[in-house]
Amino acid sequence: MRQDPSTSAKALDSLTKNQTVFVIDQTDFWYKLRLPNRKEGWIPRWLIDDSNLNNDHDIAVLFKDSTPIYPKKSIHNKAIDKGQKGQILPAYEEDNGWVKVSLKGQFAFVPTEDIELVSATDHLKDDGHNPISEPKRDQNVAKGKKETAQVRVADHYFLKEANILAEPHYTAAMGQKFQYLKTINCDDGSQFYQVKDENGVEGYIESTIAAVLSYSDNHVSSPVAKSLSDAIIMIDPGHGGDDSGATSLDESVFEKNVTLETALEVKKALEATGATVIMSRNNDEFVSLEDRAKRSNAELVDVFLSLHFDANAETSLSGTTTYYYHEADLNLAADMNKALGNLSLPNNGVQFGNYYVIRENNRPCLLLELGYITNNNDLHTIQSKDYRQRVADQITQGLQTYFSRYQTN
Ligand SMILES: [Zn+2]
Repeated sequence: MRQDPSTSAKALDSLTKNQTVFVIDQTDFWYKLRLPNRKEGWIPRWLIDDSNLNNDHDIAVLFKDSTPIYPKKSIHNKAIDKGQKGQILPAYEEDNGWVKVSLKGQFAFVPTEDIELVSATDHLKDDGHNPISEPKRDQNVAKGKKETAQVRVADHYFLKEANILAEPHYTAAMGQKFQYLKTINCDDGSQFYQVKDENGVEGYIESTIAAVLSYSDNHVSSPVAKSLSDAIIMIDPGHGGDDSGATSLDESVFEKNVTLETALEVKKALEATGATVIMSRNNDEFVSLEDRAKRSNAELVDVFLSLHFDANAETSLSGTTTYYYHEADLNLAADMNKALGNLSLPNNGVQFGNYYVIRENNRPCLLLELGYITNNNDLHTIQSKDYRQRVADQITQGLQTYFSRYQTN
């Protein structure tokens, strides 16, 4: 078993024949394993009989109906199999409406709305295929552990049911802390946190308005580098490949292409200052949100910026928005938003955003919405080379300001 998914990586341990291990991650040719002694490492896939991947999370998927199973988190992929009503599969995690499951030795994905999450211990232990004997993984939002959800968006209701039209208990205060109980995914794609207030009243808030504070437990509060020229900046062009992102009203322009063109311009401007730039993708390919955040964490980048373009059915909406998740990134958000204010499009300020790539990111990070693809004026602007260059200049400026906070005289 090796430290990294490579045959030249340091060997950590050796496995014995018929030993049972837990698969916690994978690449095309490697599995990341956890041994019963809690050591973790990588092993080539062909070395293990993967007819039943073991799972150390106490969750499983119960199919409510015949449901397609996808190779990636997108319904635009060809389904690789179908789950049958009543069938149960081990599940690894749930994110953004998708559950990662193991199927015939492969990881695959099913839409959360099509399944029910059940206890793996209750449903799988007796068939001998999926022993769940390992201690539970320390998940960010773990069952039983007391978690706090803090409201970060003003003027939203604390609701009596997980439905935006439900009767409210009252309007949740900005900054109000609730005890987090669980996440509810609704059939219409909306998501709620079931929470309890300080008086013990139980109810629901939309997940888009609140941060679960434990996600910030490992988040750093400042960059490692003291100047932009010494910094490693990760630029994340949103979407790519099968995931087109938002589309212009006439369906001729895809967000994934505009984000990449803009990101390449930003890369150029940052490299001109001496900074090292890591791109989550350099061409039109699919990269999972998980891989984007993981890479930022693994490379210990000084700043991570995800670039996007907004879309809304209300086509008059226009301008740029700076989204943060972690309170520690508010300085970065303020500096960046001030710089984006110099662009020709209106500035919608700093807002909280419950987005995977920043929520699961331990490095200083933001998600920038650089204009509305569904607004014809914005669309014209964001496609111009001139705007891309201005965005690149202003992002550079915003980062210069941010790093100047850490310069020692
Ligand atoms: Zn986007």
